[in-house]
Amino acid sequence: MSAGPRQLRLVMELRRQGIGDTRVLGAIERIPRESFVPATFRDQAYEDTALPIGHGQTISQPTVVARMTEALQVSDRHRVLEIGTGSGYQAAVLARLCRRLYTIERHRDLLQSAEARFRDLRLHNITARWGDGTKGWPESAPFDRIIVTAAGLEIPDSLTDQLAPGGIIIIPVGERTEVQRLVRIVAEEDGLVCSDLGTVRFVPLVAGLPRAAAERRPA
Ligand code: SAH
Repeated sequence: MSAGPRQLRLVMELRRQGIGDTRVLGAIERIPRESFVPATFRDQAYEDTALPIGHGQTISQPTVVARMTEALQVSDRHRVLEIGTGSGYQAAVLARLCRRLYTIERHRDLLQSAEARFRDLRLHNITARWGDGTKGWPESAPFDRIIVTAAGLEIPDSLTDQLAPGGIIIIPVGERTEVQRLVRIVAEEDGLVCSDLGTVRFVPLVAGLPRAAAERRPA
């Protein structure tokens, strides 16, 4: 996975935007974002913009992926949970930085496409599952890090319950129509400590699974 000129330009842009963690920049440099976007948007794959991936969902903007990944402070000893696999791009970036990445998506065909990309890129430390991520992944808990890539109105208790001591959650919180806040939660000895990392715009975190009929319709 060697980086092309457009990819290197994107990494320079991220650096300019204040992303300083060289491990994060290195991971982004090595994951080909073009493999995670639909063919019709491939020429925009290295622009700093969110792009549609079907089912009304989007692959996040690279600066947002970089900001969230940096804020998560992932090490190669960590087991990390992602809610909202989408294209699989954020999962792929994280998988380069952690020991094992668990990811949950509620749209079955988005999940299947993401899994095919993980195989093609030989990202073998990712375990992906179809399901409602607001419940977390109790069988594999606790997690050192949890990242939610869809915006909820509140932070689900099941996620804070599945966080290891000293663990970190990064989650966008707020209404779809309003400006959402990116929130960082640290599980300290005497309780959860929250901080505000600024504004973001995400698709909503939706509890439950799509209806079977909607699943059968082509994206
Ligand atoms: N991390 C993704 C961003 C995808 S957009 C990427 O890098 O491409 C957010 C995703 O969250 C959508 O695919 C949406 O279907 C999913 N999602 C929303 N609510 C969810 C829930 N309760 N459980 C699992 N996935 C959910």
